[in-house]
Amino acid sequence: MTAVDRDRGAELVSVNPVTGAVVGRFPVHGAADVAAALERARAAAGWWAKLGADERRARLLRWAAYLAGQDGELVALLHEENGKVAADARIELLTALEHIRWAARQARRVLRTRRVLPGPFLADHTARVEYRPLGVVGVIGPWNYPILTPVGSIAYALAAGNTVVFKPSEHTPALGTRLARTFAEANPDAPAGVLGVVTGFGATGAALCAAGVDKIAFTGSAATGRAVMAACASTLTPVVVECGGKDPMVVADDADTRAAARAAAWGAMSNGGQTCAGVERVYVTRAAAEPFLAELRRALDGIHPGAGPDASYGPMTMPGQLDVVRRHVDDALAHGAYALVGGRKSVGEVFVEPVVLVDVPEDSAAVQEETFGPTLTVRTVADVDEAVELANGTAYALGATVFSRRHGDEIASRLDAGMVSVNAVLSFAAIPGLPFGGSGESGFGRVHGPEGLREFARPRSVATRRLALPGTTLTTFRRPPGLLAAVARAARLRHGGARRARGDSAPPPA
Ligand code: NAD
Repeated sequence: MTAVDRDRGAELVSVNPVTGAVVGRFPVHGAADVAAALERARAAAGWWAKLGADERRARLLRWAAYLAGQDGELVALLHEENGKVAADARIELLTALEHIRWAARQARRVLRTRRVLPGPFLADHTARVEYRPLGVVGVIGPWNYPILTPVGSIAYALAAGNTVVFKPSEHTPALGTRLARTFAEANPDAPAGVLGVVTGFGATGAALCAAGVDKIAFTGSAATGRAVMAACASTLTPVVVECGGKDPMVVADDADTRAAARAAAWGAMSNGGQTCAGVERVYVTRAAAEPFLAELRRALDGIHPGAGPDASYGPMTMPGQLDVVRRHVDDALAHGAYALVGGRKSVGEVFVEPVVLVDVPEDSAAVQEETFGPTLTVRTVADVDEAVELANGTAYALGATVFSRRHGDEIASRLDAGMVSVNAVLSFAAIPGLPFGGSGESGFGRVHGPEGLREFARPRSVATRRLALPGTTLTTFRRPPGLLAAVARAARLRHGGARRARGDSAPPPA
């Protein structure tokens, strides 16, 4: 969490969200500092790209090993600066390590030069697609997963041969600078700019958007995502935009209601509910509702926030988020919902106890807007059709969860979501080979997986003529008379135009 030391001017003071103790002081970098960081990254870009996929893989795996060796300190810092409990911090860290490993090991295969069939009219050619690094990628990160989320872009951008300038959230600058430092410590011979870092508030992020990087990978709120896109528009800087969600869970008649309830409890409350793809809404069919609600109450029995070792999850990292959570709970209760667990008094000054709101009107803020707190809405529906319709009824489309013993995949296929977990929660985020991202207010583009590597690569198409058979070149003014007509006849045959001309209604040959 952050405070600004007004007496000292442009300084970012990171404080523990529970105790208020100072975690660290960081510069507020302006446009000139960002330009200098970009220059360092540009200077390192040629060196890093020329290393090749195998050497980059070795260096990224060394980074992962170094991070793994520091897990105790990193978990402690995640707790100190973000507030998350050790379990949440460990899960974040081990998932981040898996992503570095996957990106490092798979980049060569995913981004290898690919042969493409040239087609019959250019049969004398060979064709290929090469994947080149973009150059320098600017990564702008949020505070809720201050290691995992940036790693989801940084590791993939580095593996694809780019260098990176990283702007961590103003709420977690100590974690952001530490992350960049570990890369340098694991690779002491690498130039400084391979993974650089700039600290500051939104203006520093805006300066990075305007600095002339080759792509911005932004993760944060949709409102900021729009500002990032607007800033990048003037230079046509491409962007990948990962924003929030209002992720639903569908619990069908044939669900294992205990497993579903435990998954909903963890998916909604872990990390204090501050998970972009956390479960925020449950739609449970009438047949499953009673056992599900009973199991949900049991699953949340004794679950509580805190800063001590027995706490289930930590505080609201960002004080402003408390107002959002309070407004959503108040609004839901004022509009006829009842609280199965917790209630108005659950929203404290630093911590929020678990809140489960039942039968909240679908048009209320608690159902339509991202709450980003340890709250959950549950609605009983007639059947899966109604559940799917309501699940698809927000402006977001990030992740979703389905619990059904027999129809999980079929229900999953009907949900508007970039990612779905069936009979488990949030699994898609921890499987590095799966692309991560959404649509609508959840943003666009993908991190993780092969698509996440290709986000940070520029395809280059090369067509090479191998044989120059006399009299077969169409793309010349000196083409032989009759060649174009012969090709046109062949095209008519190929696409079924001859049959059409005869009035034959059969489909063209494949
Ligand atoms: P935020 O939008 O407030 O800030 C994100 C980052 O953008 C910060 O580093 C901030 O300094 C920077 N920023 C602010 N204004 C900027 C500007 N004008 N130009 C450039 N950068 C600017 O978001 P947050 O509160 O840090 O993060 C929470 C949000 O992130 C939630 O909505 C959450 O769902 C989302 N999130 C999404 C994912 C995902 O992968 N889809 C992952 C984690 C978090």
